[in-house]
Amino acid sequence: MLVSAREMLEKARDGKYAVGQFNINNLEWTKSILLTAQELQSPVILGVSEGAGKYMTGFKTVAAMVEAMIDELNITVPVALHLDHGSYEGCYKCIKAGFSSIMFDGSHYPIAENIEKTKELVKIAHAMGLSLEAEVGSIGGEEDGVVGMGECADPAECKAIADLGIDFLAAGIGNIHGKYPENWQGLNFDVLANVKEAVGGMPLVLHGGTGIPEDMIKKAISLGVAKINVNTECQLSFAEATRKYIEDGKDLQGKGFDPRKLLAPGADAIRATVKEKMELFGSVGKANA
Ligand SMILES: [Zn+2]
Repeated sequence: MLVSAREMLEKARDGKYAVGQFNINNLEWTKSILLTAQELQSPVILGVSEGAGKYMTGFKTVAAMVEAMIDELNITVPVALHLDHGSYEGCYKCIKAGFSSIMFDGSHYPIAENIEKTKELVKIAHAMGLSLEAEVGSIGGEEDGVVGMGECADPAECKAIADLGIDFLAAGIGNIHGKYPENWQGLNFDVLANVKEAVGGMPLVLHGGTGIPEDMIKKAISLGVAKINVNTECQLSFAEATRKYIEDGKDLQGKGFDPRKLLAPGADAIRATVKEKMELFGSVGKANA
């Protein structure tokens, strides 16, 4: 059964670890992440961007697949199905489709409009038992065609949004989506500390978890980050393993072209990446914590 991400993130905040949000793209992604979470007894959040939702034919298909997979694979760890960077309309679609958590990314609206729309969605999400993530200060890099500048969030704006009763907050602290450029300045821990002070106990979310050095991840967790989003890293692992399989000519040997064989190394690579992240974030063994 899907659960809201609220409780698992409050526990993570209190226990000084973070729960990973791993974005899914298809059946192999979903299965790999769920099996790894179960094996490691870790809570997990499956992230779905609007683009990935569309690719999988719609949010209803995604919710049905995840629900059924949890059942068929006997997954007992807490799993949240979360809309990543949702639009106002996308949030409504996911609430209707059976998601257990949504992110409303109103960071591109003027703050007053972001507040107004977030407030409305919080009310509806909570009435339906879903958790809601809001964003202040756009995350740099590219997410489904939306390019942010990697700005840092204004703590006063963070407080204004946090006070609306949201469940967790994504605040830009110099993090970006995708691969980090050579000249990246690193996370801004002063901003993170100021945001934390402004929002009190609100669990914080770090987007763009791919390629952030381990010591920075650990420091961010110690400063109140309870959810870390990982997307690109699984894509890179999958692509690398798949390329190796084909370059080694394994698809030409015997029945190596069978999609169940062809996609297996990529699926295994996703599992390895998810495992590595769960160990780094400290969520292993925390399923019943
Ligand atoms: Zn993001």
